[in-house]
Amino acid sequence: MIRFTDVSVRYANGVLGLDGINLEIPDGQFVVVVGLSGAGKSTLVRSINALVPTTSGELMVSGQRVDGASKRSLRELRSRVGMIFQSFNLVTRTTVLKNVLVGRLHATPTLLSIFGIYRPADVELAFEALERVGIVEKAYTRASQLSGGQQQRVAIARVLAQQPNVILADEPVASLDPPTANMVMRDLQRINRDLGITTVVNLHFLDLARGYAERIIGMREGRIVFDGPPDEADDEV
Ligand code: ADP
Ligand code: ADP
Repeated sequence: MIRFTDVSVRYANGVLGLDGINLEIPDGQFVVVVGLSGAGKSTLVRSINALVPTTSGELMVSGQRVDGASKRSLRELRSRVGMIFQSFNLVTRTTVLKNVLVGRLHATPTLLSIFGIYRPADVELAFEALERVGIVEKAYTRASQLSGGQQQRVAIARVLAQQPNVILADEPVASLDPPTANMVMRDLQRINRDLGITTVVNLHFLDLARGYAERIIGMREGRIVFDGPPDEADDEV
């Protein structure tokens, strides 16, 4: 479970990114966070793996405290919380397989994996992850040669290779065209259903959110202004 209790985030410039958030996300839920630009969606998602540090309140992920956690426990937390970004964040000059193996490095870094040498079991997990997103035939292709949608699938496979309990996706389809965006959302939904991984995605468009979310969280000015099922979310959200 992910639990926010009165969590606020104040950035160095004084802007309140989150303003007293109270929120519980049970294990296995598929949550989409929507809201206008600047509403705090990204801050909410990024606080869950401490990419953005909280200023006050209590934030728990899988029974572990995120706020004020030591470096060591943060590393452990991040090994179980996979993150997907708008910009894919791949190493584009190298192969798809090597990019996915980075997920293994995040999960259980070993001296050898730090130098890019992986165990056969790691390679197997990477191939399984590529299969799940349907691009196993691209394993030895350089990432730079893939389309945006394919690159985002590699990023999803990298996260899967981490064997996470939670997947966070920060505007994962913002740079994709609508059909590709839908494909990526379908991948995330299928993974959530098949593997039961808690998934928190933030999206710009409510229409897209409605099609996939089990629960929609609407944000405005760092606060939650809607929390409910997709069929109750109107355009005011
Ligand atoms: P959204 O993802 O909904 O667009 P954000 O979480 O990115 O919203 O931003 C929420 C508020 O925090 C905005 O006012 C934004 O300008 C501000 N903000 C976001 N990141 C930073 C940062 N690194 N430093 C200062 N202010 C920030
Ligand atoms: P660093 O600790 O120097 O940021 P990492 O290898 O931990 O280096 O991560 C490199 C980048 O990859 C980070 O800046 C982060 O944005 C992204 N990243 C990939 N996976 C994760 C994850 N599970 N949690 C947080 N960030 C991640």
